[in-house]
Amino acid sequence: MIRRLIRRVFGGTPAQGRKARGPRVISFAEHQIDRTSISSAALKVTQKLQEAGFDAFVVGGAVRDLLLGIIPKDFDIATSATPEQVHALFRRSRIIGRRFKIVHVTFGRDEIIEVTTYRGPADEGHVTDDHGRILHDNVWGTQEQDALRRDFTVNALYYNPASREIVDYANGVADLQVKQLVMIGDPEQRYREDPVRMLRAARLAAKLGLEIEENTRAPIESLAALLQNVPAARLFDEMLKLLFSGHAWECLSQLRQQGLHHGFFPLLDVIMEQPLGEKFVMLALDSTDQRIRADKPVSVGFLFASLLWHEVLAAWKDIQSQGENPLPALFQAMDRVIDVQEEKLAIPRRYSVTMKEIWALQPRFEQRSGRRPFRLLEQPRFRSGFDFLALRAASGELDNELVEWWAEFQNADNARREAMLVTEPTGAAAKKRRRRRRKPDAGPAEAAGSE
Ligand code: ATP
Ligand code: MG
Repeated sequence: MIRRLIRRVFGGTPAQGRKARGPRVISFAEHQIDRTSISSAALKVTQKLQEAGFDAFVVGGAVRDLLLGIIPKDFDIATSATPEQVHALFRRSRIIGRRFKIVHVTFGRDEIIEVTTYRGPADEGHVTDDHGRILHDNVWGTQEQDALRRDFTVNALYYNPASREIVDYANGVADLQVKQLVMIGDPEQRYREDPVRMLRAARLAAKLGLEIEENTRAPIESLAALLQNVPAARLFDEMLKLLFSGHAWECLSQLRQQGLHHGFFPLLDVIMEQPLGEKFVMLALDSTDQRIRADKPVSVGFLFASLLWHEVLAAWKDIQSQGENPLPALFQAMDRVIDVQEEKLAIPRRYSVTMKEIWALQPRFEQRSGRRPFRLLEQPRFRSGFDFLALRAASGELDNELVEWWAEFQNADNARREAMLVTEPTGAAAKKRRRRRRKPDAGPAEAAGSE
């Protein structure tokens, strides 16, 4: 569809220039994107703003996705009204953000429409850090100025539901046609203003199957270190967008190709370079992608536990080789890995707690005698722990027999469960020996009583 559209609109020549030369207006007859593809909440917002005398357009990712035949996951609105004017029009709205003020308008139980006011040129009225990163910026501007402040040409498209026209200031439609992701303006300066744009480039290219255009790609490698200046919470948000984009593996490969894993997700390289680790991460990401595409819920804690498992394994081995017993060594290894990641990525505590719970269950799956398997079944994290075990087996880390045993055990009746228990006399004897070693002064009566 796009190919035909481009031929009609531009006579078959993809746009070459990257500077805006006034907008191109693309009519409904050409692009065929109907109002029915737009969420009714977004339509209500544009209509109300327009009735109040303001400009209002669906903008950014939604227009881009619709042109590519993808169902947008959200609809953002750009308007000439200030945040205060928008807020005054919608009862269920609130102004949020410090760096950029925007308005969230809520519909139904949880649909949120993000409304942003046209922003002015980047070189006026903003505060930057020493590397050129914009810290505060609330200068309003015209639609054209707003378009040129956006990151990629394919994201600077404005759809007016009333006229069903698309306004294109930066040749975004043409770039979509030739599958190119092109930065608006001078790429190096734009990355300095906001280093997260480098991650967005990797994610959008992977998700949309676009190629990062040469000038847009060139500065990334040498500027990658600027990501260290980005607040950890924002990096974490971007990481979640990457991992839950439905194209996680491609996104991570893109990050690596662009040299963006260093200092951002510092352990990624190590993980992906271990033969077992790579397979494990790939399986975990693949199952996440499939769940996202099937609209099923996904667990952030589980995925992070998977991404970092081989780091934990390496640290666990290392600590044991220094003479520590297996279980305390595992707990020390978990803390070591989590500490590094919490610092770099600000993994919120609620996720690191889940990760630790999943990891800590793993050795317990190997104990198949006595009451222990029954106690493990009662753990609230049993299901996640078991799925994790299955992933480890699928990656070749351990024998599938253990997974099959647990698959049967959890669904069996009590009699069958008792029959399945493994007797481990040598293990019990070893345990007694350990206890005796730990209590050298204990007399025979005391040792017997402690059993
Ligand atoms: P997604 O499919 O992930 O929602 P998106 O492009 O819509 O992709 P959003 O984060 O929803 O991403 O941003 C909406 C729009 O805001 C973008 O299309 C782009 O025009 C603009 N934008 C977002 N982040 C930046 C940025 N860091 N610099 C410049 N413009 C940005
Ligand atoms: Mg969006």
